[in-house]
Amino acid sequence: MNAKFDALAKKAVELGAADARLLPADAIVFDPRSFLKCRFGCNRYGRFWTCPPNLNLSPERFMAAFERYRTALMIQSPDPKISQEVTLAIEKEAMLAQGCMFAFGLALCVQCETCAFPEPCNFPHLARPAMDAYGVDIGKTVEALGFQVTFDPEGKLLPAWYSMVLID
Ligand code: SF4
Repeated sequence: MNAKFDALAKKAVELGAADARLLPADAIVFDPRSFLKCRFGCNRYGRFWTCPPNLNLSPERFMAAFERYRTALMIQSPDPKISQEVTLAIEKEAMLAQGCMFAFGLALCVQCETCAFPEPCNFPHLARPAMDAYGVDIGKTVEALGFQVTFDPEGKLLPAWYSMVLID
């Protein structure tokens, strides 16, 4: 893996992430069962511009783009707001400081209390899809990095939120 991207992991922590680890893009695990979990039981389905079925970019087109990436940064954050902010900041840093013009963040969009959908997005420059919207098995992917996905008794994600930047 390209050592020059270590600076991005360090920067993510400086910006408020609990941890951030580089991984090869081919270590990211996909499982189509994620689509079932998105479609049924998630109260964001159909209500956010950044969630299915409102993505306006099919999983097939996403995968065609994904296959061009070699390196990603997995970011662990203490809450979804920090997760989104750090992800966008690292995406920008990768573009401007590292010249990775196709750097792309995936993070749950929590920018607005209520999404503007179906009216136009309030902050399109900040809106990115979540990893699971495109079928990433977050649990399996982060486990291999030494992270763990855990839930409290009410099903709330603990102790961390995960987001990712596809770097290069
Ligand atoms: S920025 Fe606001 S309006 Fe746009 S997708 Fe996110 S929550 Fe919805």
